[in-house]
Amino acid sequence: MKKINEVIEKENKIDLVHSFQEACNDKEFYEYIKSLPIEEEVLIKYTSNLQDAFIERKNCHYCRGLNYCKNRVTGYCYTPQKDNKMITFSYVACKHEQKRLKDDAYKENLELFDMPEEIQNATLKDVYTDDKARIPIIRYFKEFMEEYQKGNKPKGLYLTGSFGSGKTYLIAALLNEMAKKKVPSALVYYPEFLRSLKSSFQTDYNERFDYIKKAPLLLLDDIGAENESAWSRDEVLGPILQYRMQNHLPTFFTSNLTLKELETTFATTSSGVDKVKARRIIERMKQLTNTMELIGKNRRN
Ligand code: ADP
Ligand code: MG
Repeated sequence: MKKINEVIEKENKIDLVHSFQEACNDKEFYEYIKSLPIEEEVLIKYTSNLQDAFIERKNCHYCRGLNYCKNRVTGYCYTPQKDNKMITFSYVACKHEQKRLKDDAYKENLELFDMPEEIQNATLKDVYTDDKARIPIIRYFKEFMEEYQKGNKPKGLYLTGSFGSGKTYLIAALLNEMAKKKVPSALVYYPEFLRSLKSSFQTDYNERFDYIKKAPLLLLDDIGAENESAWSRDEVLGPILQYRMQNHLPTFFTSNLTLKELETTFATTSSGVDKVKARRIIERMKQLTNTMELIGKNRRN
C-alpha cells in the first residue's frame, strides 16, 4: 500500500512540474514568476492560480479605470503572497480602486434614509446652469457654505417647484460638498421614512428619530408627498422642527407644493381638520428656511 501511495505522489509531482514548465514557455509568465520572491519548489504547486494572478496583473497594467476593469472582482487584483512554504492568494485593491476609496471618504459623513445611493455623487460643478433658474440657488449655496465655515448657522432652504426639475439633486450637491468639508448630513426621503419609522416602534424608532433630529445638516426630501396623519405632523415633524429651531441646525426641504399648499395638506388629516396645528408647523418651517423656487423642464428620463 505504501508503495502505491509513493508512486501516486511521485506521479502527481511529475504532473505539477510538467504543467509548471509548460506554463513557463510563455516568456512573459516566466518573467512574472521570476519577479516573485518565492522559491520555485513552492511556485510549482500553484501554476494555475499563478496564471490567473498573472492575467489579472496584466489586465491592470493596461487598464484606464474602474469602468474598464477586466478582473473577476472589479477594482481588485488577484495577488499571490508568500506564506511560509505556501502561497496564499488575495484580492488587492488596484490603484484606481484605492483612489476611489480615498475620494469616497466623504460619504461617511452622509447618512441616507431611503434615498438612492447615486445621490451621493451629485456635485455642484455638475449642476446644470443652462436655464437661469438655478443661479440664485447656487448663489445661496455659496453664501451658505461661507457662513457655515465661519461658524454661523445660516438658514436652510425650502425648495419648491415642478416634478423632476432637479430640486433633490441640487440640495444633495450642496450637502455632498459640505460632507467633503467634514460636516455630516442626513438625507431623508420623507414619505418612505415616515412609513419605516412607523414600523420601527419595537426596534430602533428612538435612534432613527434622534439621528434625524440632531443631524448637523438635514434634508427632508419630498415633503407633502406622504399620507398626512395627525401623528406624523404632531409627533414626528413638529418635534424635529422644534429641536432644530432651538439648536439652529440648518434644515432643507424639497417639495412639489408651495408652503401655502403644504399648510392645507397638513391641516387635513384622517383625524379631522386642524388649521392651528398646521399653521404652527408652517411657522417653524419658515423660521428654519428661506423659500426658493425651481421650475424647469423635467430632467427625469
Ligand atoms: P426633483 O427632486 O425636482 O423631482 P431630481 O433632483 O430628482 O428632481 O432630478 C431629476 C433627475 O434629473 C434625476 O435623475 C437627477 O439625477 C437628474 N438631475 C437633476 N439635476 C441634475 C444635474 N445638475 N446633473 C445631473 N443630473 C441631474
Ligand atoms: Mg425630488
